[in-house]
Amino acid sequence: MGYIEPAPIKDKENPLESMMSRFDAAAKLVGISDEMYDILKVPARQVIVGLPVTMDNGAIKVFEGYRVIHSNILGPAKGGIRLDPAVHLDEVRALAAWMTWKCAVVDIPYGGAKGGIACNPREMSAGEIERLIRQYTVAMLDVIGPDRDIPAPDMGTGPREMAWIVDEYSKAKGMTVNNVVTGKPLVLGGSLGRTEATGRGVTVAALAAMDKLRMNPYRATAAVQGFGNVGSFAAELLHERGVTVVAVSDISGGYYNKKGIDITAAVNYRNGNKGTLEGFDGAEKISNEELLSLAVDVLVPAAKEDVITDDNAGSIQAKMIVEGANGPTSASADEIINSKGILVVPDILANAGGVTVSYFEWVQNRIGYKWTLDRINRRADRVMKDAFDRVFETSQRYQVPMRLAAYIVAIDKVASTYKFRGGY
Ligand code: NAD
Repeated sequence: MGYIEPAPIKDKENPLESMMSRFDAAAKLVGISDEMYDILKVPARQVIVGLPVTMDNGAIKVFEGYRVIHSNILGPAKGGIRLDPAVHLDEVRALAAWMTWKCAVVDIPYGGAKGGIACNPREMSAGEIERLIRQYTVAMLDVIGPDRDIPAPDMGTGPREMAWIVDEYSKAKGMTVNNVVTGKPLVLGGSLGRTEATGRGVTVAALAAMDKLRMNPYRATAAVQGFGNVGSFAAELLHERGVTVVAVSDISGGYYNKKGIDITAAVNYRNGNKGTLEGFDGAEKISNEELLSLAVDVLVPAAKEDVITDDNAGSIQAKMIVEGANGPTSASADEIINSKGILVVPDILANAGGVTVSYFEWVQNRIGYKWTLDRINRRADRVMKDAFDRVFETSQRYQVPMRLAAYIVAIDKVASTYKFRGGY
């Protein structure tokens, strides 16, 4: 019997549908044909694999892994690998399409992909995670590749996992192939600036948006949800640029200090506390829900998808939302947020700093030369600022919110590339 696609999850916002409803609205505005619409909405390739892993207690456990290539029309597909118990095919498909639009918005020559493994890395040892990642790499040998599909870190993965992928892939190919992934450790061909790149891009986008709203960063306040890679660097860099970050949060809850959180102290605390802020005493404890409704200038959701829905959108008081996470705002919340006049810098623009520096990493690997941090930061900031301006200008021209404008920019680019290539 063939694979039966799981039914959409009913008790949860569906990220694929969230993405598709924005895609539909933008596609109508761009005026693409029905045929082109059909091409763009269907992923080019979807792979599901079973991954048997020997656990530390000797038992064999089978995990399910996914890789979806949404499009490779602009170049090799690009997208992270996520380890999370809630990973499912619909989510990976949505995230893969997001990558297509994201790469197109920042104008880098990549298509979109995403991978995931349904597992709980917090309950697994390093050895178990390593065996799982190596199994995933072997299972995906004919999918990934430096000119085909280039994975990167996402939730639950980082440079350590990327190094294991390079090792396993290189063994299979009989030579070191370090540009099969990005987000690698520096010694393996990683790029300076990659770790902080997404948070840095979020900050560039937030500052550009503040400029449009004539908001002085030195008088502005921010709340950041999620204190992992994206959230903690965004908090740190916003603070560096003069913004008072009054609240941060992670899975353990929210931490509020109206005078501003000492971000360096919070980062140090988290680093010495198994990666969580649990017990951080430089602030008053609040819930993640309360963090979202604080009266701040800038709200940065940088944890996970669907945290702002039609249930809580009405209580948001921020003047702007800069989306560090992928899909933090469900489509059902868009209208409420827009009617409140909140400026949203959408995920496919705001968090594109990471894929931009990933692209720089891949370029450096290909030319066999390392750029300085200063060169990388300057180039990445320029890419982000140009993309912001392009999307802002499109939103003015079409008189639509920035989210729709970002989709318009992306769909227009991908659709016109398809038309030039033809062959269907
Ligand atoms: P991460 O695993 O480093 O951090 C995730 C953070 O969110 C952790 O602090 C975790 O405790 C917190 N969190 C998890 N569930 C939460 C909840 N229910 N409420 C509040 N906090 C919660 O992941 P990351 O790399 O920072 O990614 C975060 C988001 O940004 C994801 O949506 C990811 O797809 C997106 N993103 C990441 C990158 C990147 O370069 N890492 C690039 C683009 C987009």
